[in-house]
Amino acid sequence: MLLTWVEISKAALAHNAQAFKAHLGPACFLAPAVKSNAYGHGLVESSRVFAENGASFLCVNALYEAEALRKAGIQTSILLIGYVPLADLGSAVALGCDMVVYNAETIDALGRLNRPCRIHLKIETGNHRQGVGLGDLPKMLDRIRRHPSVRLVGASTHFANLEDRLNPDYALRQLSVFGEGLKIIEGAGIELLYRHCANSAATLILPEAHFNFARVGVSMYGLWPSEKTKVAAERLGLSIELKPALTWKTRVAQVKEVKEGALIGYGCTYKMPHAGRIAILPVGYYDGYVRSLGNRGKVLVRGQRAPVVGRICMNMMMADITRIPGVALEEEAVLLGRQANQEISAEELAQWSETINYEVTTRINERIPRLLVD
Ligand SMILES: *Cc1c(COP(=O)(O)O)cnc(C)c1O
Repeated sequence: MLLTWVEISKAALAHNAQAFKAHLGPACFLAPAVKSNAYGHGLVESSRVFAENGASFLCVNALYEAEALRKAGIQTSILLIGYVPLADLGSAVALGCDMVVYNAETIDALGRLNRPCRIHLKIETGNHRQGVGLGDLPKMLDRIRRHPSVRLVGASTHFANLEDRLNPDYALRQLSVFGEGLKIIEGAGIELLYRHCANSAATLILPEAHFNFARVGVSMYGLWPSEKTKVAAERLGLSIELKPALTWKTRVAQVKEVKEGALIGYGCTYKMPHAGRIAILPVGYYDGYVRSLGNRGKVLVRGQRAPVVGRICMNMMMADITRIPGVALEEEAVLLGRQANQEISAEELAQWSETINYEVTTRINERIPRLLVD
């Protein structure tokens, strides 16, 4: 019997993929980011649904993710966006992955393999993470030209703060630097098949950043990149509906009567203000339910909200169910998502634990089974 598991709504993922495909139009490749276990939604499970609903590429961070996709029989094109160690480039090429590159060493090592491969050059435009500055681009292009087996098919960049601002001024500056970079590359006689910089926020609210390829991450899973992006989208009159896909479930491991004044859990940080009942839930910070949710989180039991009481333990937590009658051993509790008419969103959990929705779903331990439902 499953004690703790994650249900992923296939209908929600398919809806989001189709909505983005329609939003971007037929000339733009949809390339969902499925890194980090598909933001906690199950790498293989989510990738399959995206591939069946309009995705042309899947963006992964690391080689092991590309290997897992191929092992599962998923044949969709893969773009590796993270760093691949020089020693592993042969494996990436053997899998047929496109790779985002930004180091001369990587280009030379790919050339030495002497096997046809496709690269996308990352341009530094102001995020100061990966990327080649405009001044270094001509040298880099010369370098690529020296290796006939290495084909430059794409150019990309990444926005630093679009989701943090209502005013996209910095993103627009990055976009203009990107435009200059594209001019340098195309001016050198290279015909780019893919030009891309759009993450979820840019895909939603910055159409001039779509080019012909969009790397949509968090919003493929039905989540807004931020409240600000949602407000900006409303101001633009955007009518896209995003459907959250994830429900995190567990089962009650004990129902316990406690007296008024009882001290709950490690550190005795919670004192029962009344006599009542608590439920012990077999989930803790090892599972990805962060410790800072102690005395702050809420869980759903019988369609009602029950406050988390005491500290979150490594493998367990407690919730006050005094006001919810009849709770039985092994009955379902929901940590994230909907139960009956109540819902705990990733945004609420993020607020309670002072982080962002991205981190809430991504940190759900990979060992917890992901089940595709509907
Ligand atoms: C993760 C990532 C994305 C997706 O970002 P979202 O905000 O989740 O849409 C796009 N591009 C790169 C380079 C990334 O690392």
